[in-house]
Amino acid sequence: MNVLYATSEAAPLIKTGGLADVSGALPAALRKIGIDCRVLIPGYPAVMYKLEATRQVARFDHFLDAKGKPLAARLLLSSMPGSGTPLYVLDAPSAFARGGGPYSDSEGLDYPDNAHRFALLSQVAALLAGAESPLDWRPDILHCNDWQTGLAPAYLRLSGSTTPAVITVHNLAYQGIFPPETVTELNLPAHAFSIEGIEYYGNLSFLKAGLYYANHITTVSPSYALEIQQPYLGMGMQGLLASRQNQLSGILNGIDTDEWNPSADPHLPSQFSARALSGKKTCKHKLQEELGLEPLADAPLFGMIARMTHQKGLDLVLAVADGIIDRGGQIAFLGTGEKSIESAVTALVELHPGQVAAKIGYNESLSHRIEAGSDIFLMPSLFEPCGLNQMYSMRYGSLPIVHATGGLRDTVEDGVTGFVFYQPTPHALWLAVERALDLYAQKPAWKKLMQAGMSRDFSWEKSALAYQALYRELLPEPLPEPD
Ligand code: ADP
Repeated sequence: MNVLYATSEAAPLIKTGGLADVSGALPAALRKIGIDCRVLIPGYPAVMYKLEATRQVARFDHFLDAKGKPLAARLLLSSMPGSGTPLYVLDAPSAFARGGGPYSDSEGLDYPDNAHRFALLSQVAALLAGAESPLDWRPDILHCNDWQTGLAPAYLRLSGSTTPAVITVHNLAYQGIFPPETVTELNLPAHAFSIEGIEYYGNLSFLKAGLYYANHITTVSPSYALEIQQPYLGMGMQGLLASRQNQLSGILNGIDTDEWNPSADPHLPSQFSARALSGKKTCKHKLQEELGLEPLADAPLFGMIARMTHQKGLDLVLAVADGIIDRGGQIAFLGTGEKSIESAVTALVELHPGQVAAKIGYNESLSHRIEAGSDIFLMPSLFEPCGLNQMYSMRYGSLPIVHATGGLRDTVEDGVTGFVFYQPTPHALWLAVERALDLYAQKPAWKKLMQAGMSRDFSWEKSALAYQALYRELLPEPLPEPD
């Protein structure tokens, strides 16, 4: 089976968020189970710079830029550094050779021609998946991701192709909305600009186009697939998503089990595993030392690593922090984000030096040491499409306390691998904290939970098998063998 995986970012080439991690890992995992998955990505400078061998496999001269002028574009074949996944790079300098990030300039302002840039990516994805492809290699499935490739299923279907298209929603908050006059500039037929098509409250939405025209929609956890059909988390798309519920499912993201492996993690002062846990005590002691926390071996140490945004439930944590400290606990924060949240966390540290520590900033290495050195991990997100930290924490024997939402609900088993609370309120979080503290005092029971979490399988292989099953369902049924 051949799959074209169209994406606007992929680690380690270019990353702004979780989409890049998935685009780096999933195609490689699919290839390991025998699927010929290839990635299509724009040739941003960061991408072009990191590629080794490239070979031109196609030239396009019929695409137009935002001024309606033909633009120079070609397709290069290369491979992903590290995994070696075959990579089609859309080299169109007027669209992608820019100094800032993939979507915005160095001031953080969206590029004014984003609609044209990602319509170009989408048109090329559709072209490669359809009958007019200039390549010998033909995908059986086109797999698109988020709004940037959301128009591809529309172009594909409107061109008359029947190649099945899948779209994965990594973040429903970004919908690629542009004014209605863009429709004709993007080589889309006027009749598609309707509620049964690409129109969204009077505008054009790339994401809506994908959700409408794709044969199947996935999200990154089964619970989130249900939640986005409701007004609270549907971000205006709930009606369409609910109408497509039979073609909507959730497949959990995996984690990089080599990068996040406590028995071989170079960021840790001491390695450990479910069978040999003593190294975790050293990690805790060293973490307390590194962060200026009192070196108390028995003080339950709570870790939290998150973008400091409202989504991550920091208000809830701040509301229960005094209670944690009163019961002899310690808290280690790592994160950066909204200034008001950063200052509230810093103020808490000033009130309780020795009990609370915070590093404001992004620090990959410290994030490994916090996962390893904590006893309990706090992740009370108000919503969470999948979430990675709760999986890292289970793997590192740090029991997560999570709000029952999205991927948190789907990965943490209450009383077995962590603690789940059901209402996003300080009271509900506090009751979960108390349950965790009570169990922490019972060492054998605590160890059993740690070991249960550490032995869970969060590998990409499991996710890849689920995508494979979905792709198979979407393929046209093979003709019966003749008698
Ligand atoms: P989201 O994608 O919403 O930020 P996830 O839990 O899915 O949340 O993934 C966040 C990733 O970013 C995790 O790998 C987490 O450890 C990492 N991370 C977030 N903030 C920091 C930080 N300040 N320093 C290091 N890593 C961080």
